[in-house]
Amino acid sequence: MIVLKFGGTSLADAARLRAAAAIVVAQPAPRAVVVSAAGGVTNLLLEAAYAAASPPPPSTQGTSSGVSPVPGGGASIAAKIRDRHLAIAAGIPDAAERSGALAELDQLHAALDDALAAVAAAGELSKRDLDRIVATGEKASSVLLAATLRASGTPAAHLFADRVIATDDRFGAARPDRTRTRVQAEALVRPLLQSGLTVVLTGFIGGAPDGSTTTLGRGGSDYSATLLGAALDAEEVQIWTDVPGVLSADPRRVDDARVVPHVSYDEAQELAHFGAKVLHPRTIRPAVARGIPVRILSTFAPEEPGTLVTRESGGEGVKAVTALPDLLLLAIDVPELEDLAAASAAVFGALHAERIEIVAASQSSSRRRMTVLVDAAAHGGCAHVRPLLGTAMDAADVEAEVGCTEPVALVAAVGQAAAAQPAALARLLDVLGRANVPVLSASQQTSNVALTAAVPAAHAERAVRALHDALIRPQPATARGRRPRRTELLAETIRVG
Ligand code: ASP
Ligand code: MG
Repeated sequence: MIVLKFGGTSLADAARLRAAAAIVVAQPAPRAVVVSAAGGVTNLLLEAAYAAASPPPPSTQGTSSGVSPVPGGGASIAAKIRDRHLAIAAGIPDAAERSGALAELDQLHAALDDALAAVAAAGELSKRDLDRIVATGEKASSVLLAATLRASGTPAAHLFADRVIATDDRFGAARPDRTRTRVQAEALVRPLLQSGLTVVLTGFIGGAPDGSTTTLGRGGSDYSATLLGAALDAEEVQIWTDVPGVLSADPRRVDDARVVPHVSYDEAQELAHFGAKVLHPRTIRPAVARGIPVRILSTFAPEEPGTLVTRESGGEGVKAVTALPDLLLLAIDVPELEDLAAASAAVFGALHAERIEIVAASQSSSRRRMTVLVDAAAHGGCAHVRPLLGTAMDAADVEAEVGCTEPVALVAAVGQAAAAQPAALARLLDVLGRANVPVLSASQQTSNVALTAAVPAAHAERAVRALHDALIRPQPATARGRRPRRTELLAETIRVG
């Protein structure tokens, strides 16, 4: 069986939905389809939830009867969401399917209104409420695509994944339980597939042990697709999106960025980690466990080969160059060698306590200086992180000096074979040196699949361009693949919402 996943841009309106349905039916059955919310809907749902929780300004508060019919500003946003869904439903090319979908959407929107009203009444928004509210987008998409498929003559059913993907109860960033998910997928999805239906499932959402709806984190529908693919032993997971595959660089930075035809699981994970926006970072893991090939394809050019992700990828060189912006580089100098272990424990402990993500860490050979590259743009930058570490050092009774540089970008050249060559880092530094890019730190691990250099953010773009020019060979003309036009590549966005 095959799992196909469609992102928000590919489900944004009725015409895109019909295009998605055509792609689905071109694949051999049995097939399961995983859908995101229509583009922009998740953001609207979040807005509605926050608006419901914050008290309305006094002028609009209440009516003469003292009862407010308006849950904060949430109701008007909820109306916008309903209009989006109804507009999509209006394009379903079959009257019975159209009215069936409208009836189901009515229920979803009524439940949304109730949830918003409950939040407004409580005056606060729990993470549990928020997940229940944002799940509406994916649920509506699943109803709409299943109806569109049936309208085009393909037997299909939708299923909400809060009954299929089992998670813990970390609302907003729930972690899946793969064993329970497998059991639930066998019980609920398999029989539908066996009866000849195409099953359309909601991405992004799961179910906590008590049955509450959870979400897997923004952009999590890709992850849902591989989780379901693994649970159902799929032959392939196809991620249908709005870019033609994994690109060798951000096309807004590099003119001749191109599609990379084949990457390994490790390379794909590294690319996601180092800032390529095409896949949610956790997506690949469930596929690795079962060796399921993942293909990244464009709904705007369905005949293109896209990018295939498998265990082995072949190819010798660097495949892609990325930049992760908005980082800060911490340099911790520890004069007394015997303080080093306590100092590292304090640094990592303090960063962990604030949920600040560590992107890279290293230690000088004298072992007196640690450098830690962290993603702290959303955590107040150096102004916040430096005193934080100062306090942690005091608490640990360690003498250390904490330096902090920002903004820093981490540029990465990704390619398994290239990164394993002993001279590769020298080559990277040489290219950056010739391009007059100052390097703050650089690393290569032979077992790893990327070479990285931290550079001042202002130099990141030049660094990426120089590395792409020097390390990535001009694209050979392939029999199948037409080179994507630049305008198509420019469609790349962070696909959330
Ligand atoms: N709709 C969710 C989001 O916007 C999940 C997804 O699109 O993958 O984050
Ligand atoms: Mg996405």
